[in-house]
Amino acid sequence: KGELLKKVASHAKEYGFIFQSSEIYDGLSAVYDYGQLGSELKNNIKSYWWKSMVQLHENIVGIDSAIFMHPTTWKASGHVDAFNDPLIDNKDSKKRYRADVLVEDQIAKIEGKIEKEVTKAAKRFDDFDRKMFMETNPRVQRYLGEIETIKARLKNGLEGDLADLKKLIEDLGIACPISGSKNWTDVRQFNLMFNTEIGSLSEGANKIYLRPETAQGIFVNFLNVQKTGRLKLPFGIAQIGKAFRNEIIARQFIFRMREFEQMEMQYFVKPGEEMKYYGQWKEFRMKWHLALGMGEENYRFHDHIKLAHYANAASDIEFDFPMGFKELEGIHSRTDFDLKAHEEFSGKKLQFFDPKDNESYVPYVIETSIGLDRMVLSVLAHAYTEETLEDGSSRTVMKIPAPLAPYKVAVLPLVNKDGLPEKAREIANLLKLDHNIQIDVKDAIGKRYRRQDAIGTPYCITVDYESLEDNMVTIRERDSLEQVRIPIDKIQEEINERVSI
Ligand code: ATP
Repeated sequence: KGELLKKVASHAKEYGFIFQSSEIYDGLSAVYDYGQLGSELKNNIKSYWWKSMVQLHENIVGIDSAIFMHPTTWKASGHVDAFNDPLIDNKDSKKRYRADVLVEDQIAKIEGKIEKEVTKAAKRFDDFDRKMFMETNPRVQRYLGEIETIKARLKNGLEGDLADLKKLIEDLGIACPISGSKNWTDVRQFNLMFNTEIGSLSEGANKIYLRPETAQGIFVNFLNVQKTGRLKLPFGIAQIGKAFRNEIIARQFIFRMREFEQMEMQYFVKPGEEMKYYGQWKEFRMKWHLALGMGEENYRFHDHIKLAHYANAASDIEFDFPMGFKELEGIHSRTDFDLKAHEEFSGKKLQFFDPKDNESYVPYVIETSIGLDRMVLSVLAHAYTEETLEDGSSRTVMKIPAPLAPYKVAVLPLVNKDGLPEKAREIANLLKLDHNIQIDVKDAIGKRYRRQDAIGTPYCITVDYESLEDNMVTIRERDSLEQVRIPIDKIQEEINERVSI
């Protein structure tokens, strides 16, 4: 599985999904460009999200706010003071790490030891009861105790006790993964926001930030949208846009980038009702993922131990990436933290007048926040399949859910002569208003099928000599390789049906 991420990255590059940014200058770390297929995939994910969130909810509207915001925004939101990662350097290798990640890797190691014990015991007993074993085995109990202690100290460290975080790393005997050295610097807080200056220096430089999340653009527009849209609670504001974070460890392909895109929705509710909606949104968002059919077993919830400075409850939807289960989306109950803070810092009221109760109040907020690029990675990693076919030949096929596939259909004339390409174009014209399609005339038909498999095109329509006589074509399905012959005048209907969610 460790190999999978590398394979996906190289496949994504080879076929034009994703390139390293500024590759001719040897690239820029943790920044990527989406090529001709990647941008189609991304657009399809965006529209799947937008449709299900905005179009299908009468009480959710979308906006597109600016990346640059007044610098006080980030004071109010807490990002200037609290959007930090604890950073530690190894004095010998000069490598920089996130202190919390070093500790979490250690926890993962202990969890690995527990799994070993469990597997060993499971082999010995026929009617093995995992829960019972975990609760009674002294060794497992000791490991679980160790994990508890480490987690408690980690939490304490993340809440500000940096000296103890360093001591925890020393106590655990954590060595630098590169040099093996245990010679660590102190832990320092490192702010993740990028900043730049607005206006010319002569006018007096003014530091502004690149937004680290899209949510604040929604909060500061809360009243603008509510009033002009005449919206009543509960209602939501959705937005898709770029966000920027100066991540310390930038690795794992597009999982952790310095410039990325978020799809966020803030749902404004009456205080006291937030837990009801928090539960509803958790459920709705999980359903959204499952509807794509990428396997229920690949998703799970993870409730947070350490809550962000603004939250009273938070849960991640994790996906089984090539690196294991990791956060794909966050669902947060953000209380009235943000709106209250913006009231305080701006001196403007950000309240909703509730005509039912004849009172004004600052709403509470449930947020759903998903990284578009992480979603792309989950789709690509799940799709990547190497297969040996019945005839012994092999193929690499991207089993991308049809509604998300960059091209829905490839129209392939069997040969590039005798009126077949013209017929293919007729069919393409029938489909291209509704779908992104490709006509491919080069190379033998088998080779063309392989090429479409590799880019994830769910349907190939083959035009042969008989098609000229009977107006029928063959549709080949990418995953099952099933082929059916249907009349050309039924194609539109057939394809529409097959590629919709
Ligand atoms: P992580 O713990 O992985 O750093 P986070 O908890 O900081 O993520 P949030 O602030 O909740 O993430 O952001 C919401 C979503 O934005 C995440 O679920 C993730 O999909 C996406 N995201 C956050 N940081 C990045 C990044 N550096 N690159 C790509 N996507 C990101």
